[in-house]
Amino acid sequence: MRLFNKTRLALVAGALTASVAFAQPVSASWLEWLQNQFRYTQTNHPIVLVHGLSGFDELFGLIEYFNGVPEALTSGGAKVFIPQVSASNSTEVRGEQLLAQIEDYMAATGARKVNIIGHSHGSPTARYVAGVRPDLVASVSSVGGVNWGTPVADSAADGQLDNLGDWFFGLVDFASGNPNLPQDTNAAVASLSTEGSIAFNQEFPDGIPSRYCGNNGARQANGIRYYSWGGNAVLTNVFDPSDLLLGLTATIIDEPNDGLVPACSMKLGEVISVEYRHNHLDQVNQVLGLVARNAADPVALYRQQANRLKRAGL
Ligand code: CA
Repeated sequence: MRLFNKTRLALVAGALTASVAFAQPVSASWLEWLQNQFRYTQTNHPIVLVHGLSGFDELFGLIEYFNGVPEALTSGGAKVFIPQVSASNSTEVRGEQLLAQIEDYMAATGARKVNIIGHSHGSPTARYVAGVRPDLVASVSSVGGVNWGTPVADSAADGQLDNLGDWFFGLVDFASGNPNLPQDTNAAVASLSTEGSIAFNQEFPDGIPSRYCGNNGARQANGIRYYSWGGNAVLTNVFDPSDLLLGLTATIIDEPNDGLVPACSMKLGEVISVEYRHNHLDQVNQVLGLVARNAADPVALYRQQANRLKRAGL
């Protein structure tokens, strides 16, 4: 009887292995389902997703900034918190807003630390919190992060965008149900400029390479792990109208970039890759999942990062 059971078990295992090996291609959703059975994204500490410039948590309660990411992370066991900071303001103002919301979240849930993943301006915003309250932060992951500034902000630093920017970003926060967040486009542009970023990095150096585009940023500093990923493509999907805008801003940058940020500026701590075939909005799976064919699935990268954090005990 025992032999029979063993034989039957071996046959079932063999059939399963064969079906996995010969399923061409193994569908992403099936793989995700299987991974979720092992709590693939179940990190020790909750994950905080921080939006970038002109960002929002949800527009009109419908369109989420990190398109499809929160669901993908929670389905594998992660706890996810999505704060809302000013769409357009200095890194320090946004950082204080983020810190206050993380403290509230911790008080409500009993969490001791958080893993922060920040896109674009969300990266220095996260680094600010890690710098002033390292006891609350387990890791900072930068996605398309403006860690060494961008020539796009340098070109806008004359203040001409200020009135238009305040109106636009105020509208973004209104549509996302947060009309009271202060907007200061000049301050945002100053923070995202090369000069402003270098000054910020001197005050908050953890994870930053010793020279521009270096790969030697500290992977761990002050008890906090640092990671980064991003892309260096601009026009990735002919059906995505945002590619046209990114195509225009990309002309300001004379090195590999994602339409808004040089790939070299994205590097922080452990550089996973800044060469994905993603533009700045593809990195958050926008607009509405329109990314390049054959590019890495942007949502899968967040799942992989959560799994990386889990394996590191974070
Ligand atoms: Ca896109």
